[in-house]
Amino acid sequence: MLNSMEESTRRMRKFVDKYCAKSGTTTHPDKKVTEAVINGLANNNLTLGRPLCPCRFYPDKEAEVKHRTWICACDDMQIYKYCHCLLFVNKEGLPITEYLPEDHEGRVIHGFVKDPTPDKGRPLRDKAQEREKERKARPS
Ligand code: SF4
Repeated sequence: MLNSMEESTRRMRKFVDKYCAKSGTTTHPDKKVTEAVINGLANNNLTLGRPLCPCRFYPDKEAEVKHRTWICACDDMQIYKYCHCLLFVNKEGLPITEYLPEDHEGRVIHGFVKDPTPDKGRPLRDKAQEREKERKARPS
């Protein structure tokens, strides 16, 4: 159980550092972007008990927590290595979009962004088909 925003923020920073190394990504070159996302994750972790992605709107946050799709690192990150919050990006600050379906919002917004470290990350890559079905039924 987390007792303070300070503790929650510290844990999220540690998680982000580790996840960057594991996924072969980097945090955004504009530190303000990274700080805002870490702050949002830490706040959700403190108030909801899980680091729910802070860059989305949820009609019911409590219900969303039970559905693991948007718990950081979310399904899009673990399957496609795509972070729409721009927390885990390439050195230029762009999210990896190489593995996304062509009609995914990330490809539409950012175009094709190649993965510079294809040997790292995407532990749930085998779930891409399943995620696609879910995305079509429940828009991302
Ligand atoms: S988009 Fe996914 S990986 Fe990026 S901050 Fe949100 S939950 Fe984390």
